[in-house]
Amino acid sequence: MIYTCYEMARDCRADKPEGWTYFISHYVPVIRKLLEHYRANEPTVEQVLKTLRQPESSLFQSLEPAPERWLAAELRQLVVEQIRRPQAEIPVDLETVSVALEPLTVVEKQVAWLETMDYDAARTGAMMRMAPATVEKIRSRAAELIRSKSDVWRATILGDNGYNLGRAAAAAGTKECYPVRDFLDVIDGRTTWPHRERMTGHVTACWHCVDHFCRMVEVVDLLRGIKLLSEAESEPYRGALGIAAGKQSKPWMRLFRGARASH
Ligand SMILES: [Zn+2]
Repeated sequence: MIYTCYEMARDCRADKPEGWTYFISHYVPVIRKLLEHYRANEPTVEQVLKTLRQPESSLFQSLEPAPERWLAAELRQLVVEQIRRPQAEIPVDLETVSVALEPLTVVEKQVAWLETMDYDAARTGAMMRMAPATVEKIRSRAAELIRSKSDVWRATILGDNGYNLGRAAAAAGTKECYPVRDFLDVIDGRTTWPHRERMTGHVTACWHCVDHFCRMVEVVDLLRGIKLLSEAESEPYRGALGIAAGKQSKPWMRLFRGARASH
């Protein structure tokens, strides 16, 4: 029998060692990549794990079967929330960004938004399947548009305000917003043309959905080629949580497509 992500969530919710052992080997690499990308000194991986294990943590609360990318996306939000970021010297709010970037297409908005998530032109190009030079061109246009709408401005304004803009966008969801599944269908190329057209019509005017789409692109990128922790690598994290070694590290329990346990 294959131990699934759903069973892991159920076992973590019940605070069983097998759930946490599996979570540590599969998701600590994701947490590490996030903390590294967002250049966080705080929290540490151990602090993140301890927070996730609190009874009030929302990560394992859903009783729906949770596909791994959905869980990774939830995890991303919880990790980023814990990262302390300095206030931007020149603040800009979502309203201003939204008005300024109105002339951009959906894809151009996504490219601009990935800058708030600290992705440079090269990484953004790889994530959005376009040339880095195109990313830079779109970003200079976005910068000019924002500059025209703000009294004070600097080139790094989107990145500097990334944390607050991300929070504002995440909180701005509406009933019309699309669920995770639709964004993953677009990323996986499974969307029909009419559905994609309808989605574009909504997303082009909705920064909540632009942000959500970008976060899913990020998660897919994060999970690509992730290496699971070996028993020995997992041990210190289990120790930090006071969890005895479980029995869930068989190769056929690999959660991520193409992922390999490092021995
Ligand atoms: Zn929306």
